[in-house]
Amino acid sequence: MSQGTLFVVSAPSGAGKTSLVRELIENLSGIQVSVSHTTRARREGEVDGVNYHFTQTAEFEAMVERGEFFEYAQVFDNYYGTSKSAVQARLDACQDVILEIDWQGAQQVREQMPEAVSIFILPPSRDELERRLAGRGTDAHAVIERRMQDAVSEMSHHKEYDYIVINDDFTTALEELRALILSRRLTAGMIRERHAPLLEALLS
Ligand code: 5GP
Repeated sequence: MSQGTLFVVSAPSGAGKTSLVRELIENLSGIQVSVSHTTRARREGEVDGVNYHFTQTAEFEAMVERGEFFEYAQVFDNYYGTSKSAVQARLDACQDVILEIDWQGAQQVREQMPEAVSIFILPPSRDELERRLAGRGTDAHAVIERRMQDAVSEMSHHKEYDYIVINDDFTTALEELRALILSRRLTAGMIRERHAPLLEALLS
């Protein structure tokens, strides 16, 4: 049966992953971003059900018990997870799905779905990453230092991914991401699956 492709996108905070993915899906049909569950507090401007499903820890743990997560992990001090319901039905409906998740979640996805395509987004330099993590300059040095350590720890997993996109120029990085999705849709296996009647008619 024809299925959509699952794309896993990981990056350290400050690499521009969320903005790239948002822009990508705005101008490409047949692809959706899965909305994760998290126990972390909602940040200003975030909307429940849009950015995340904001969930109490007890409810998150109950979902884990009930086996409702496709993958989940503790990232920094909170739980994050992708529910099975956010993924399988869409893939079955031939939609591509993007998971914006960390390296721990990516490992779980690879184990369960080796055909998933994984992409790592890197910042263009250490200085630029530091600048992005410093934000508006209001955070304490120790806080920025901690973010930098977390970013380095996430980036150390780049070798586990199928593709790497370096987000130096936003438009170029966006084009590269788009090319990855489109080339996957054009693999012979995918075309054969999706266009079986055409092939049959052409060869009859
Ligand atoms: P933030 O709190 O900044 O939105 O996200 C923190 C980290 O959690 C990011 O690395 C993000 O990719 C990761 N994350 C977000 N949702 C999920 C998820 O459903 N599963 C996993 N494993 N990681 C997630």
